[in-house]
Amino acid sequence: MKKSTWRDKSKNHVNPDDFSEIEQYDKTSEGLFRLHVPEYFKKLIDFNNANDPLLLQILPSKHEHANSGHFSKDPVGDLNSRKAKGVIHKYHGRVLLIATGTCAINCRYCFRRTFPYTENNASAYHWKEAIEYLKENLDVHEVILSGGDPLMLSTKVLTRFTDQLKTIKHIKTFRIHTRIPLVSPSRINDEFINWLSNVKLNKVMVVHCNHPNELKKNHKKVFKAINKTNTFLLNQSVLLKNINDDGEILSELSHKLFSFGILPYYLNQLDKVIGTEQFFISREQAKTIHQQLLAKLPGYLVPKLVEEISGKKNKTPLI
Ligand SMILES: *Cc1c(COP(=O)(O)O)cnc(C)c1O
Ligand code: SF4
Repeated sequence: MKKSTWRDKSKNHVNPDDFSEIEQYDKTSEGLFRLHVPEYFKKLIDFNNANDPLLLQILPSKHEHANSGHFSKDPVGDLNSRKAKGVIHKYHGRVLLIATGTCAINCRYCFRRTFPYTENNASAYHWKEAIEYLKENLDVHEVILSGGDPLMLSTKVLTRFTDQLKTIKHIKTFRIHTRIPLVSPSRINDEFINWLSNVKLNKVMVVHCNHPNELKKNHKKVFKAINKTNTFLLNQSVLLKNINDDGEILSELSHKLFSFGILPYYLNQLDKVIGTEQFFISREQAKTIHQQLLAKLPGYLVPKLVEEISGKKNKTPLI
């Protein structure tokens, strides 16, 4: 029998039958944002528990039709900051590239559910426009591959990018924003680790984990391998109602991340994207939860509570 590849594992493995016990499931919400869950993440979900914190992140829910009028399609103003194909330059010194439009998992709370990716992706046309933009902008010293999820791209396509990046002397730091090491860890194979080892820039990987249940023992070797490539590992979470809006859960997450070689970086206020109102936590509640973290954790394990406000030159700390 043919061995299954990483691509098979990152395909959608959940179907409507899996939600037969879940009252909030709504088939029509799949039309708003496709249901897509990889094999590994599916195994961590308890489908008999309607409140399972991993289930709630992927469940097409009837609540996605709520529309108070306070949520919009592009609340963070990304479309206005587009400088070239897949190039978003909002902040000083660093440029974010939308490497690809796809992800291994579709998280229901994500701003990606409304972003027009097909015409906005930097890896199409062999990264040409992105590389030209980076060459011309001498004050940019850090490039961030984001998405979608950049690790959806083959290692060959990633190599094609970093080979061109090498020739741009003012780029010092290479950053990857990805959820794949958590939700589909078999992507982090030897070929990938070899490639990352050979990138001779300062390297940062920001993973995305919201709840301690997402981190399992067998992730340990994955993060160890990444750490060995001299890549700093950081985590960002999104503060999500009924999933991780709790000081105990988030402090457990911080401790667990640390034991896997990852430091907490950002705790993001939800971007107010249409279809995500059921996940929203008010600023006041968010600050209260953050205070609980400050009271429980050593400073280096407290993520920065931030919000992305359209037009601002940095993520805005909520204090
Ligand atoms: C979040 C973000 C970054 C990275 O911000 P840091 O504070 O450096 O982590 C860069 N560009 C854009 C457009 C962003 O949204
Ligand atoms: S960009 Fe990140 S948060 Fe959004 S759907 Fe993809 S993996 Fe999930």
